[in-house]
Amino acid sequence: MTAESIYEDLKAKLADVVPDAELRLKAETAFEVQRLKTERNAVILAHNYMEPALYLSVPDHAGDSLELSRRAADTEADVIVFCGVRFMAETAKILSPEKTVLVPHKDAGCSLAASITAEDVRQLRERFPGVPIVTYINTYADVKAESDICCTSANAAAIVASMKTDTVICIPDEYLSRNVARETGKHIIFPTRDLPAGGGDGELEYQMIGWPGRCEVHEKFTVEDISQVRAQFPDALILSHPECSPEVVEASDFSGSTSAMIRHVKETEAPRYLLLTECAMGDNIAAENPDKEMLRLCSVRCPHMNLITLEATRDALLFNQYVIEIPEEIRVRAVRSVERMLAAV
Ligand code: SF4
Repeated sequence: MTAESIYEDLKAKLADVVPDAELRLKAETAFEVQRLKTERNAVILAHNYMEPALYLSVPDHAGDSLELSRRAADTEADVIVFCGVRFMAETAKILSPEKTVLVPHKDAGCSLAASITAEDVRQLRERFPGVPIVTYINTYADVKAESDICCTSANAAAIVASMKTDTVICIPDEYLSRNVARETGKHIIFPTRDLPAGGGDGELEYQMIGWPGRCEVHEKFTVEDISQVRAQFPDALILSHPECSPEVVEASDFSGSTSAMIRHVKETEAPRYLLLTECAMGDNIAAENPDKEMLRLCSVRCPHMNLITLEATRDALLFNQYVIEIPEEIRVRAVRSVERMLAAV
């Protein structure tokens, strides 16, 4: 593999999306990343939201959180570079503690992961004793450590169903939990809004207990966005991520995890598609499905995912940054929640 061959490959896929001069620079950086990867016996795991030049050049595996968790658990490499945000790299470290795990930018956070603390989860457990806690993978290690099982957007409804209890705590994404409640016919409450602090909930009927965290990207899509696109492009197939509101999910033609959306575009034959998710994914799908037209609502971007670039990935390998560390006492409790999920579905 040479910088020239990477350039030719990227050009074949991205000529309509990325200017040629930029592609040449990206190809040279990708070549450097490949060289460093071999030198350090590293594996690169990339989330579906990565910029197209990265997504299509250096990852050993690309996918959604669930797929990448499985890859992180399996790898033989010495180093895992996680091209995604910090909670994802933490999940890799939870599953592969003996490996060096790097996230290419120190500020790659997530509004969902920031919405809840370990202390919040302990208080929920105290308030609803005996109720199992299902925690979205978009959380930090200490929150996973306080939970019974993790879920991703690909398996949330199945994990909630697998609990086989009357009531389940499902945190911290308000919309994902509302969508699971809708799908499974459960009534959901949010203690921080629906119940007075410290009690008074004896009369209330509920089967799911949620938390008011939101993805700062997906919460912005509206039913009106969908109506406007349908008015202009009546033949567009509209796909939404389950971190969108239930109203948006209901108004869409399909809803699923990022990888489920990618598969759906591959397997259907609509004249055009609109993805209600991080915009970079539209470019990646367009590159892989040149015969399909992608509409994009790109004014909303994930500021965290967009910090992860090819250049930052090269620097991660070059300078061994930013190393993920998790105290062992937290990791051993967090790994139980993640492994239970991997074993359940
Ligand atoms: S897209 Fe949303 S859920 Fe994903 S990292 Fe960004 S803020 Fe977090």
